[in-house]
Amino acid sequence: MYKHPFQRHKTREVGVGNLVIGGDNPIIVQSMTTPDTYNIDATVAEIHRLEEAGCELVRVTVPKAEDAAVLSEIKRRIKLPLIVDIHFDHKMALAAMDHPIDKLRINPGNLGGMDRFRLVLRKAKDKGIPMRIGVNAGSLEREFAMKYGYPCPPAMVDSAIRYIEIAEEEGYHDIIVSLKSSDVLTAVEAYRMYAKLANYPTHIGITEAGKAPYAVTKSACGLAPLLLEGIGDTIRISLLGDPVPEIAAAFDILQATQRRVRRPEIIACPTCGRLEIDLEKIILQLEQRLAGRTTAIKISVLGCVVNGPGEAREADLGIAAGGGKGMIFKRGEKLYTMPESEMVDCLMKEIDIWEDEERAAGRLQAGAVTFKTDSREEDHDDANGRVGLPLLK
Ligand code: SF4
Repeated sequence: MYKHPFQRHKTREVGVGNLVIGGDNPIIVQSMTTPDTYNIDATVAEIHRLEEAGCELVRVTVPKAEDAAVLSEIKRRIKLPLIVDIHFDHKMALAAMDHPIDKLRINPGNLGGMDRFRLVLRKAKDKGIPMRIGVNAGSLEREFAMKYGYPCPPAMVDSAIRYIEIAEEEGYHDIIVSLKSSDVLTAVEAYRMYAKLANYPTHIGITEAGKAPYAVTKSACGLAPLLLEGIGDTIRISLLGDPVPEIAAAFDILQATQRRVRRPEIIACPTCGRLEIDLEKIILQLEQRLAGRTTAIKISVLGCVVNGPGEAREADLGIAAGGGKGMIFKRGEKLYTMPESEMVDCLMKEIDIWEDEERAAGRLQAGAVTFKTDSREEDHDDANGRVGLPLLK
């Protein structure tokens, strides 16, 4: 089977609650709530729905003192690490840090000056709270937009590097960086440029992607090249409206790019006039019976002999159908034939055997999240003693 020559952007590890972002840790899926944050019941209910869908990190907005005031209560009622999103008012960031929050998200360029950014950095450092420095093409600081004439990728990266340098001057290194744009090409280029310059982990996403299903496709177009180049330590798919569908979309993108495989991958042909079995019914039954499995196994079921044997040989398990029967393959080798009516049962039986064999050989993979109890106390400098901007120094 083809192995992608994958190299992950080497990033530092940053602890966020009981998660670790960056390094070799799994790419974390996050989302953001939609009710007014001070509406505790509605906010907590949405966080619980997100958690049930698989969300691993959640962000709430804090534009007003009433929102900051309820953060302890929200935190008490949820299990997910809590990120607080701040714009314009550094006092909200300072107030939020009086509560047991797990991370801040700010855009230093809209806080009204670097002195205010430094105040936020100092308190975050004192409290051991990590921070996402979120540069956004739509709200780029005037100085950087003017330098290049418009909010292009170099302007965004310059801006991020400047904020990182200020944070480092304050001795603060618990940084995650985002360089979002609603324009796919701008975002991809900005993250690519950044990854050549710095090693703080990245939160990736295509901002304001709009409404599904186009927004999911647009996000996938932007995130897939980055993920395949090893860029991205945490991910959000921004969808208009209810955030819960963002989670399945994010995990689908991670699954398809093989950056975080959490379930069996089913390969099925689109069907055509050559079809010789009821493939839709078989795939539906297979999906139902595999629901909840986290095994990283590739299973192909194709409807005729045109591509069936080839795909079946490339998969971990595969069926090549023809004339109401199917030949099952395991790791490229033919096993036996079975009638169409037994295909799903046979596949399920062979999947169990395959899992046992892989487990015994120590090769069984699932997309588990790596947890640490408290990574904030770790020394975040890498083996060479470098901090955030190795190529600039
Ligand atoms: S595998 Fe066969 S049935 Fe399926 S799309 Fe291709 S030619 Fe058609």
